[in-house]
Amino acid sequence: MSEYTEESRLEKELTFQFPHIAKEEPGQIKEAAEFCEGYKTFLNEGKTERECVAAAKKRLLAAGYTEFDATKTYAPGDKVYKINRGKAILMTTFGTLPVREGVRINGAHIDSPRLDLKPNPMYEKNDIAYFKTHYYGGIRKYQWGTVPLAMHGVAFKKDGSKAEICIGEAADDPVFCISDLLPHLAAKQNERRLPEGLKGEELNIIIGSIPYTDEKVKEPVKLLALKILNERYGITEKDFLRAEIEMVPTQKAVDVGLDRSLIGAYGQDDRVCAYTALIAEIEAQSPSHTTVTILTDKEEIGSEGNTGMNSRYLLHYIDTLARMEGADIKEVLSHSMCLSADVNAAYDPTFADVFEKNNASFINQGCVLTKYTGARGKSGANDASAETMAKVIALMEADGVYWQTGELGAVDAGGGGTIAKFIAQLDIDTVDLGVPILSMHAPFELASKLDVYHTYKAFAAFYKDGMAR
Ligand code: MN
Ligand code: MN
Repeated sequence: MSEYTEESRLEKELTFQFPHIAKEEPGQIKEAAEFCEGYKTFLNEGKTERECVAAAKKRLLAAGYTEFDATKTYAPGDKVYKINRGKAILMTTFGTLPVREGVRINGAHIDSPRLDLKPNPMYEKNDIAYFKTHYYGGIRKYQWGTVPLAMHGVAFKKDGSKAEICIGEAADDPVFCISDLLPHLAAKQNERRLPEGLKGEELNIIIGSIPYTDEKVKEPVKLLALKILNERYGITEKDFLRAEIEMVPTQKAVDVGLDRSLIGAYGQDDRVCAYTALIAEIEAQSPSHTTVTILTDKEEIGSEGNTGMNSRYLLHYIDTLARMEGADIKEVLSHSMCLSADVNAAYDPTFADVFEKNNASFINQGCVLTKYTGARGKSGANDASAETMAKVIALMEADGVYWQTGELGAVDAGGGGTIAKFIAQLDIDTVDLGVPILSMHAPFELASKLDVYHTYKAFAAFYKDGMAR
């Protein structure tokens, strides 16, 4: 008698389920955990887009990359990088095929939701000195109160010199904080709708409470805070007008759960894809197609600005690669393929009703291939073609990558976007691929180590196998 009934054989042949990696292949747990140690280090080094570019550059130089020079001739296997204004970076490993055969693009973003200082941020009220902030990207404002914050960024002084500011990360550094009401006095605040739990103009950061000792000074607490900043960085109040300063959680990347299966950290959207893409790029050895790995800025505010994907810096880079070979840029673009490396929302059992379970991504089921994002009828989505889906699935399955598909929530539950549509606009086949995240955009986001590892494996397969067009 056979082990399988006709029904179970049919079920096995005709239906499918995405497996839980740890149930299917427990050996992966240790491999994934080892891979993620480097990821945690990267997260701690890069809490702003500028710091992520520096962290990437350090790793590229160690791996033998040189700065891209359009007047040089490159051979297959040569590795170069090009930085865009300190806030975005392009990396290439030259392929064995000519560029006219298309490039293989993997793009992640390195900006994350945060609180930016306003251009004129310092003030004093009732003997407390504060920073005024304007939030960057989609945050749930109430989550940012009573969270220890660090100050990161750059400020330019009158003489043109640059101060690189970082306060709140070293063990002996002070940190900063937004206050919130005590429950005893929050009756009225509790009646607010959640988006207004803390209002935008209430995201005021405490920076000091002791006055400078001189009775003639108008704002002595603010002055003492300024004096301390001046002693540390040589900056004055006016220099905030020529600065980009980001207030981010001080929390370091840590293991979460008794089994240490998850990583908890700030900014995993999308530094988790940035790190996995970076490592896949560094490890690419003589790929067939020339690689273009992008770590870009400004995704969280719609890819705007000249360091965001809605600018032409990628197009200009590919154009330069094409010219170096005498190829037609249009031919290069139409033969290219892109993974838009970004995260998706992992199914959260506590908030099950915003997901549609058959089309949600789950933690520990591998990287998530997202056909479309958008909102209200896929509006604003790239919506990858069946052909592109087929190619990426085949590529992952050939290399033993655990993957799943995912929608960004149930229909009309909300929505969002990625850089995918901006790359697709260039006439490039594009699809989103990344890591499922719990508590996305919160000061402390969660990702599964197994999913991080398999996202890296998917990116590595993309560059190794090149994916025929
Ligand atoms: Mn993202
Ligand atoms: Mn995001």
